[in-house]
Amino acid sequence: MTTFASLNLSPELVSALHKLGYDNPSPVQLRVIPKALTGASLVCQSETGSGKTHSYLVPILAKTDLNLPRTQAIVLCPSRELARQVYEFAFAFTKFFPKFKVRLFTSETEKTQNLEGVSGRSNDAAPHLIVATPGRAKDILVDNRALPLQGVKTLVIDEADMLMELGYFDDIDAIFSELKEGTQTMVFSATLNQELKANLERYVDARFLYEGEDHKTASGVAHHFVDVKHIGKLEALDRFLRIRRPYLALVFASKKEDVNAAYAHLRELGVEAVAFSGDLDARERKQALRKIKSNEYPVVVASDLLARGIDIDDVSDVISLDLPSDLSYYYHRAGRTGRFGKTGDSWIFYNADELRRAKALLAQGTEFDYYTLKSDSLVPTDGSFLKKREIRFKHEISEDQKRDISIAKAKTATDKVKPGYKAKRRKALEKVAGKYRRKAIKEKVREQTNKVYAAKAKKK
Ligand code: AMP
Repeated sequence: MTTFASLNLSPELVSALHKLGYDNPSPVQLRVIPKALTGASLVCQSETGSGKTHSYLVPILAKTDLNLPRTQAIVLCPSRELARQVYEFAFAFTKFFPKFKVRLFTSETEKTQNLEGVSGRSNDAAPHLIVATPGRAKDILVDNRALPLQGVKTLVIDEADMLMELGYFDDIDAIFSELKEGTQTMVFSATLNQELKANLERYVDARFLYEGEDHKTASGVAHHFVDVKHIGKLEALDRFLRIRRPYLALVFASKKEDVNAAYAHLRELGVEAVAFSGDLDARERKQALRKIKSNEYPVVVASDLLARGIDIDDVSDVISLDLPSDLSYYYHRAGRTGRFGKTGDSWIFYNADELRRAKALLAQGTEFDYYTLKSDSLVPTDGSFLKKREIRFKHEISEDQKRDISIAKAKTATDKVKPGYKAKRRKALEKVAGKYRRKAIKEKVREQTNKVYAAKAKKK
């Protein structure tokens, strides 16, 4: 087995890693650390739980000149929670390297506090590593010019797909343009679609693209479809939790309204649950995270975006109340369990409306097994519920729909091509299409019911 020592790291660093509980590098660390140590820029597809944070923190620390009081690395993260998590991982090294200075710049703390001691008055105060959200980093480093950046050797763009979705690339651009040419740029992202790759070209000449572990086949996770039939998803969740009694369940829903509804339902039933959705303000998010990490709450209900990258230990079961429109998110959800050699289960609550997405997921080759949810048990089945033909029909585009389409287009129009705008427009248009599709289905069902009644009435 390869050890950290064989990666050409100093004995002090290997010993610090050992004391922190890291004996052997994870696959992503094994691939990224040697490359990063050469100073090469890279793009790495990997997600939380793979050990990606240390795959950049370790080489950053290895390359930092601790006797030089200059900022030598910057890590940008899409949310203050993620930034804090990375900061804490980095801070843990200060016990073994007391000269190593790390600062966290996010909106969690007041700007004045962020600026304290770094306003260029004293070089001693310059942190070697800055971990920040892009907005605050731009504010402090670019707008306020609070620290000289000529000594920066490495920039890390962590969770790049989320940074793009949140429209942070303008701020990143501003910071990037302050750095000297040839600065090593390491990009980490759970997903890597064409749009993101095109966006990344300005930072990284992606000669080194490491596609991470194949998260679709992450070995420790067993994938299951649960046919919930006509039972509503919330009732199904209640039943499922009573039957399965998970140690720690992470429940995902794509929409924050559904996250809130599931949370409210569980609380009503007296289940100790924590909700983690975009509706929470900063303080509430912090509180929720604290609760989650305390391990006293057996159920966490979360939306995809907010749950991204948050490191929760010992998740035994992941439950998807729906399938996300971007199916790569499903694997991201499932990957929150079965980490670092542990096993876990990922359950998809399925009803017949979701056949198309379910089939698309199955087509990706992951092996699933199948269950039907009864009132007091999960009964294994052959999965024939997924083999039924999808009810499909076309409906005419009405004048109303045309109007809604142009409104959606106008609302998402932009004169500047901003990151994420295509996704926003696609979502807005999907919403309109969905609304009219549902309307058309309802009409069709009404038509058919009327026909049945008419036929019955004729018989009488
Ligand atoms: P990350 O993917 O960076 O969010 O890391 C996920 C978890 O893995 C964190 O709790 C780390 O402490 C842990 N971790 C990172 N590297 C290793 C390693 N080499 N061995 C064991 N645990 C690790």
